[in-house]
This record gives sequence, C-alpha cells and structure tokens, in this order.
Amino acid sequence: MQNGKLIVLTGPSGVGKGTLVRSLLQRHPELVLSISVTTRSPRKGEVEAKSYYFVDREKFQQMVKAGELLEWAEFAGNFYGTPRPPVMEKINMGESVLLEIEVQGARQIKQTFPDALRVFILPPSIAELEKRLRGREQDSDEAIAKRLQLANKEIEEAGEFDVQVVNDDLESTLQNLASILFDG
Ligand code: 5GP
Repeated sequence: MQNGKLIVLTGPSGVGKGTLVRSLLQRHPELVLSISVTTRSPRKGEVEAKSYYFVDREKFQQMVKAGELLEWAEFAGNFYGTPRPPVMEKINMGESVLLEIEVQGARQIKQTFPDALRVFILPPSIAELEKRLRGREQDSDEAIAKRLQLANKEIEEAGEFDVQVVNDDLESTLQNLASILFDG
C-alpha cells in the first residue's frame, strides 16, 4: 500500500487557516486532521480530543522530552504540538494527514518529516490581515500590534515553504489548494 501524504498548512495568525481547513475537510473527507496538544485552556465550545488534547505544562514537557511530538512551538504564551504516533500510524495506513499549525512549528517539519508538503497561506495585504485580526475581537490592541509585527517577519520568510497561496477569495483559494494537494 502507498503511504499517505503529510500536508502542512501554515501562515500568520488571522490569515484564515482555520476556515480553509474546515472547508477542505468537508470537501475532501479522505483527509484526516491531526489533533494537537496544547497547554492553553479550552475556549467555549471546544471539546477534548476533538479541538485539542488539553494538557498541563508538565505533561507537555514530558512529551517533548520523550520525542513524542513531530513539532512544537510556543505561541502567545502557550505551547502547541503535533503528537507523532497518530500521524505516523495514519500515513503508514495510506491516509493523508493535514496539520494546521503556526510558522515556527511548520519550519521544524522540514527536518522531522522531509517529505511533507508545506503550504504557506498569505493574506492579500497586511492591511487586510489587520482588519481580520480586529474583526475577530479576540485580542487587545497591543496583542494585535505584536501579531502584525510577527506576521510581517513570517511573510518575508514565506519563500522557504514549498508553496505559497494568497487567501483572497475563499472559493478560489480552496480550488487553488485542492489542485495543489490532489493534482500535484
Ligand atoms: P489557537 O489558540 O487560536 O487555537 O491557535 C493558535 C495558533 O496555534 C494557530 O496559529 C494554530 O495554527 C497554531 N497551532 C495549533 N496547533 C498547533 C500545533 O500542534 N503546533 C503548532 N506549531 N502550532 C499549532
């Protein structure tokens, strides 16, 4: 049996990775989403083992030490990581696995899983990214300023990823992604 693919979607905070992933999973049920571990607290409506595996910092550090994470990063004061065994198991069974992760973690995948397809999602412009971050009403002005500063740096380095996709119009972005993932 042929192994499945590992597909990584990354890009700056607010670029719309979550929406793209939800739509991709609906349209392509053969894709499996990897469930991350995180030390952040669950938000309203989030479900253990569906949204994330919610763990404390001690457990997270243990997983890092034991080499159980394919990648991990600190983001906005919390730790996030991809459990290695379930991903490897699915890929070995021929299933294609999708990771939706931030940029530092996506960088590590080049070393831990060189065959992965790493897709960088770009905003149409920084002004549009700022609008989206403000529209979420999730962060303070200070946090938004920090995220924009980080986004600028990440966008400068987008070229190190395998493919770059601008998320302007949802439908055309999804079609573009589908052709990258399935026709390539
Ligand atoms: P949130 O707290 O809003 O769910 O996620 C914050 C950021 O962490 C998002 O950019 C999301 O893509 C990223 N993220 C979620 N899971 C992982 C993971 O396993 N590894 C890394 N590196 N980033 C993750």
